[in-house]
Amino acid sequence: MRQPLVVGNWKMNGRVGEAEELAEAIAEAELDWDHVGAGICPPFPLIDRVAGTVGDSPVAWGAQNMHAEDGGAFTGEVHGPLLRDLGCTYVIVGHSERREHFGETNQQVAAKFFAAKRNGLVPIVCVGETEAERDAGRAEAVVRDQVQAVLGDGKEDVFRDAVIAYEPVWAIGTGRTATPEQAQEMHALIRDLVKAGYPVTGQSLKILYGGSMKAASAPELMAQDDIDGGLIGGASLKADEFIGILRAAVASDL
Ligand code: PEP
Repeated sequence: MRQPLVVGNWKMNGRVGEAEELAEAIAEAELDWDHVGAGICPPFPLIDRVAGTVGDSPVAWGAQNMHAEDGGAFTGEVHGPLLRDLGCTYVIVGHSERREHFGETNQQVAAKFFAAKRNGLVPIVCVGETEAERDAGRAEAVVRDQVQAVLGDGKEDVFRDAVIAYEPVWAIGTGRTATPEQAQEMHALIRDLVKAGYPVTGQSLKILYGGSMKAASAPELMAQDDIDGGLIGGASLKADEFIGILRAAVASDL
C-alpha cells in the first residue's frame, strides 16, 4: 500500500557535466516506474540543471537543505519559495552531516521541516543515532527525541505529506549497513510513534532507510515491513548502483 521511494542525496559532489549525465541515465532507466517514486537531491546550483535534464520523466528533484525563513538577510542560505520556484518536490532536513558539522539542533530541524511544508515541499526529515549512542543503549531514545521534536504537542498531523529517513550515523558513508532486523526495529518504532496520535498518517508514512545502502543490500532491507525505500548517498552517484536500488524497490512493491 505504500509505494516505495528512493531518493539520491548527492551531497557536495558533482560538476555540471557529470550531473547532467547522471540525471539523464537515471531518468532514462528502463524500469516499471508505476511501482517506485524516485528523487534526486543535487547541490543547490545544480538543481536547475538536473530539473532541465530529467524534464517530465518520472524522476523528481529536490534540495539537501533549506533555511527556515522564507527570505531575508541570511548570506549563503536558500529559502523555500526559491526551491518551490525551481520545481523541487523534496527537501532533506536534519541530515546527520548538517547536525554534526553545522550544529543543527532538533528545534532547528523542526523549523526547517515546517518551512518546507509551508512552501509546498515534501520534507524528508533524517533521524538516527551515532555509534556511541547505540553502544550506550540510547539509540531508541535519541530517535524518539528527534521524531518528537517535529511532532511537538501532537495537536497537528505534521507527518502527513512528509517522509522520515532513518539513517544510523554509524552506517552513513562507512560501508556498514544496518542489518535488516536493526533497521526494521527502528522503523517500526518510528511508525508506532506517529501512529499513536495519527493512525492513518502513521500507516501511510514512507520511512526510508539510509546508510550505505547498495543495489546488493537493497532487496533484503526493502523486504522489511516498515522499510519503504532508501535515502542513498554514495551509491546515488553511480547510475548503475542507483538504478539497481530502484529496481529492488520496484521488486519490493510487486
Ligand atoms: C546519506 O548521506 O544520506 C547516506 C545514506 O549516505 P550513504 O548512502 O553514502 O551511506
